[in-house]
Amino acid sequence: MANILILGGGFAGLVTAERLAATLDKTEHQITLVAPNKNFTFYPALVHLAFGECEASDVTFALRTKLETIGVRFIQGEFIRLDPQSRTVEIAGDDVSGEIAYDYVVLAMGRRLATEHTPGFFEHASHMLGVRAAERFGEKIKKFTAGTIVVGSCPDGRLPVPVCETAFAMARRFEKQMQAGTVRIKVIFPESLQSAFGGATLHKELESAFLSHGINVLYDVPISEITEGKILSSAGHEIDYDLLMLIPPFRGPGTLSYLGISDDHDFVKVDGHMYVHGLENAYAVGDIVAFSGPKLAHMAVRQADVAAANIVAEIQGHAPQEEYYHEISTVIDARGADSIFLHYGIWDDDMYRLKKGYFWGPAKDFHDRLWQVRHA
Ligand SMILES: Cc1cc2nc3c(=O)[nH]c(=O)nc-3n(C[C@H](O)[C@H](O)[C@H](O)COP(=O)(O)OP(=O)(O)OC[C@H]3O[C@@H](n4cnc5c(N)ncnc54)[C@H](O)[C@@H]3O)c2cc1C
Repeated sequence: MANILILGGGFAGLVTAERLAATLDKTEHQITLVAPNKNFTFYPALVHLAFGECEASDVTFALRTKLETIGVRFIQGEFIRLDPQSRTVEIAGDDVSGEIAYDYVVLAMGRRLATEHTPGFFEHASHMLGVRAAERFGEKIKKFTAGTIVVGSCPDGRLPVPVCETAFAMARRFEKQMQAGTVRIKVIFPESLQSAFGGATLHKELESAFLSHGINVLYDVPISEITEGKILSSAGHEIDYDLLMLIPPFRGPGTLSYLGISDDHDFVKVDGHMYVHGLENAYAVGDIVAFSGPKLAHMAVRQADVAAANIVAEIQGHAPQEEYYHEISTVIDARGADSIFLHYGIWDDDMYRLKKGYFWGPAKDFHDRLWQVRHA
């Protein structure tokens, strides 16, 4: 019998649990998922939530109900500490407070919002890294009537898709006011567009899309501080705003740093099998992983597939075979002819496919709905 412990109930943790549950005999092996939140959140839909196009209940579902139906034990609790010698994990929560033993552990706790690296972020910026945060931003959008809207990313924000989609949604919402000159929209990136998308050269298509929506795009603006009404950068920029949405800097969870398995941003180092460097019987998947480029849900899902297949192989006495390939496959939904589909190999830039057109917005909506129906 093997005890498999999954830490985190986002895309990476949930899909790992589903894949293992579909393959392993649950009368013989125990799969446990631990997460502090009782709900799964479908993050890509939070832009729609902020703009009032759906409800919170449309983008979340109960983890316990879902996991119980597939024979996975759910523990609502928080990871505190891992002891590699005894192969135990300390959990604090209502369901369990104490240690849980594992034969295999999967680290899937996602990113940490390191707002402390941008003074003033907490006081002045909105973000969309959660249901409540997206709803609070939505309330500000409703009240906004005139002025400058800034949408962008702090250094290490690593999430360019919702930045672009929020800017396009703003341009649709305030189209008349933009024509009248009472609302202006700026998008800012800490680096080039190419760097923001892991090296993919989509800047021409994206720039022309921003231009056709009247959005002013600024690159190489490494935000260093936010004050009331002003963004300051370490390159000397001073940018005024009346409404501000920023992706904060990302870090891995600092709670693992004593294990020596993380890089200098606390992301966990893994090999191509998603096996953690320097920690036996441990895999890591999703935003927590120390791979370059943006952090996206489809990467988390693919990594979960790979880790689950390799855990099953190990349990069956074989060496891990399944390899992860790091690529971007995403749609930037501009609701119309400017929507972009990008497929790009971060580890192999020979793989490059870019398409633009009306089709991609509805295709993303359809894919997102289907994903939620299949996994809820
Ligand atoms: C607004 C927005 C829009 C996005 N749009 C897209 C898009 O269009 N396309 C795309 O591919 N990606 C998109 N993403 C990115 C995508 O959502 C993430 O890449 C994905 O959520 C990563 O999955 P994950 O499981 O690694 O992390 P998460 O989904 O963040 O899950 C982490 C899990 O770990 C749990 N956890 C945290 N701390 C602990 C702890 N101490 N102990 C136990 N559990 C813990 C959390 O509660 C959560 O359950 C978007 C993200 C946002 C915020």
